[in-house]
Amino acid sequence: MKPIPVNEPYLARNASKYLQECIDTGWISSEGPFVQQFETQFATLVNRKYGVAVCNGSAALEVAIAALKIGSGDEVILPTFTIISCATAIVRAGAIPVVVDSDPHTWNMDVAQIETKITPRTKAIMVVHIYGLPVDVVPIIKLADQYGLAIIEDAAEMHGQTYRGRPCGSFGDISTFSFYANKHITTGEGGMVLTDDEELAERCRSLRNLCFQPQQRFIHEELGWNFRMTNLQAAVGVAQLEELPACLIRKRKIGQYYNELLANISGLQQPMPRTDYAENIYWVYGVVLCNERSETPAEVMKQLAARKIGARPFFWPMHEQPVFRKMGLFAKESCPVAEKLARRGFYLPSGAALTDDAIEQVATALKEVLA
Ligand SMILES: *Cc1c(COP(=O)(O)O)cnc(C)c1O
Repeated sequence: MKPIPVNEPYLARNASKYLQECIDTGWISSEGPFVQQFETQFATLVNRKYGVAVCNGSAALEVAIAALKIGSGDEVILPTFTIISCATAIVRAGAIPVVVDSDPHTWNMDVAQIETKITPRTKAIMVVHIYGLPVDVVPIIKLADQYGLAIIEDAAEMHGQTYRGRPCGSFGDISTFSFYANKHITTGEGGMVLTDDEELAERCRSLRNLCFQPQQRFIHEELGWNFRMTNLQAAVGVAQLEELPACLIRKRKIGQYYNELLANISGLQQPMPRTDYAENIYWVYGVVLCNERSETPAEVMKQLAARKIGARPFFWPMHEQPVFRKMGLFAKESCPVAEKLARRGFYLPSGAALTDDAIEQVATALKEVLA
């Protein structure tokens, strides 16, 4: 049996053509023309005025925090169930991450808990859409308006997804994406910061480029980073963008097929196919072992690995991260839903290149393991 990796990206047909163009013209650095083309096209896709391409999605979050001037003593509310990049960006800026627990069905942040976490020091809410369904953003926008808070929207898992018909990535004062190899659009490594505010966009451009100044290049008023995206990466991004609609159709089919094949396994929670405001795009196909099952995800994943099938555990909550505990953060925090998701959840091979045949093999293997 051929191994089935946890993620095999689908690479668009024109990727090699555009890469060849970079090499033929000599434009390989961030100065090349594909960077702006990718920024413009991606911004159009998500209904934003400005896109600023960066080297990865984690960098995009750091730029977002810095552009909004979030710093020492400021609090930012975020889901505990997320990738560490979100909390890292906040902590590195000297700000304080304040976590909320998850919704047990969508696995997104429990929106009802946000207001209880707002204090006079709260500056922003970081909305992170998890695994394939968007967060219910309308109530968050209301809260942000009411309390004068900024919204940072991490849409790294949401390329092409919509919330009530509006693109994910169009809701934050600043929204961010990742183009890592397991995202729906990949540039190998890459990211983008998006906004409608010209001044914020200008700050983001400056921050990604070491805060060089247009007039006096080597005199710096602020500290930035070299977070630039190369023309090579952007060339792949432009090609990937052309085939995003087909990729999304495929991802949804993959999710639906898994849903069908795994429906009869008892004690296995599947992803929700839809909510009132979105159809799942199954960025990854996650499952949760219910309490009635005695197996742990680690045991199941080991059995799958023995059958050459890749799988990954769910995120580990931010409030349980040793690195943050050692900093004295989250001392008395308890988020039972996220704690359970972390201990009982894992995801199956979900890449856009996954064949029906492979899905059937994974489903058969999982049924055997859980028999
Ligand atoms: C992938 C991801 C990131 C980080 O992106 P990188 O490009 O890997 O740095 C950030 N946030 C979320 C929600 C992600 O899924």
